[in-house]
Amino acid sequence: MLRRVNPGLPRGGEVAFFEVSHSGETFKVNLRRTNAARRFTLRVRAPSGDVVLTMPARASLCDARSFAERHAAWIGMRLRRLPRRASFEPGELVPLRGVLHRVTSRRALRGSVWTEAPCATETGEPLPLLCVNAEPCFVARRVRDFLVAEARRDLEAAVERYARALGVRPRKVTLRDTRSRWGSCSSAGALSFCWRLVMAPSFVLDYLAAHEVAHLLHMNHSAAFWAAVSATCRDSARAEAWLQAHGASLHRFALESRGEDGRGSPGQAAGVGAAEAAATSSRRLR
Ligand SMILES: [Zn+2]
Repeated sequence: MLRRVNPGLPRGGEVAFFEVSHSGETFKVNLRRTNAARRFTLRVRAPSGDVVLTMPARASLCDARSFAERHAAWIGMRLRRLPRRASFEPGELVPLRGVLHRVTSRRALRGSVWTEAPCATETGEPLPLLCVNAEPCFVARRVRDFLVAEARRDLEAAVERYARALGVRPRKVTLRDTRSRWGSCSSAGALSFCWRLVMAPSFVLDYLAAHEVAHLLHMNHSAAFWAAVSATCRDSARAEAWLQAHGASLHRFALESRGEDGRGSPGQAAGVGAAEAAATSSRRLR
């Protein structure tokens, strides 16, 4: 068997990606063959910006390429619309309970991470500071750990409040970095939340807590479930609308500007929902 040296040809001789161009820009399109696929589907994953073309097992590469070429303008448009990737490094703007804070490395005798009110004499837009007592290279990790700890505090307090109001008791509260769901409730009564909720306005985190606690009474989205939610939380619709409009932006933060999220295991990237855009056919695009 002939071996060809070509980055697009992994083992087995199958093409793993090709490049398409539009208006002087070139885009890498990764290919994924599945038996389940009935047609070509093009996706631009957020926040990595990976372009993936899913194709039926028996479809020809020639057809795949021409499909991608027909949608090259769409790929460029989706990539331009992706939210800018951001980190927790010094100088970055990070939302805490819906308020933007500027991350600052500040050496001090005591304290690890703390907030300070906007400085009146500062030039430019005065923003509250998120001060980190660490060398700049350790700041991002400290900020992330701080946000996870704050999220835990806020979520445990909110869960406690709503559980008492509804007369239920969760078995435990776990924080994760989930991409597809903001919260969940297991049949055993364990609640799980995405720690990134602490970056959203507080009414959003409160609503998620109320929602998952109400599942301890009703493991469904029945009218009785929604009645339990609205008995304790009045912001359901407002919070759902906020997550729809801004939820994906909470996922653009990574420990470093590139990396962490960029590793993108295929399983994790599946079912991203609002953070992902897909073109399933040219009909849907025009
Ligand atoms: Zn639910």
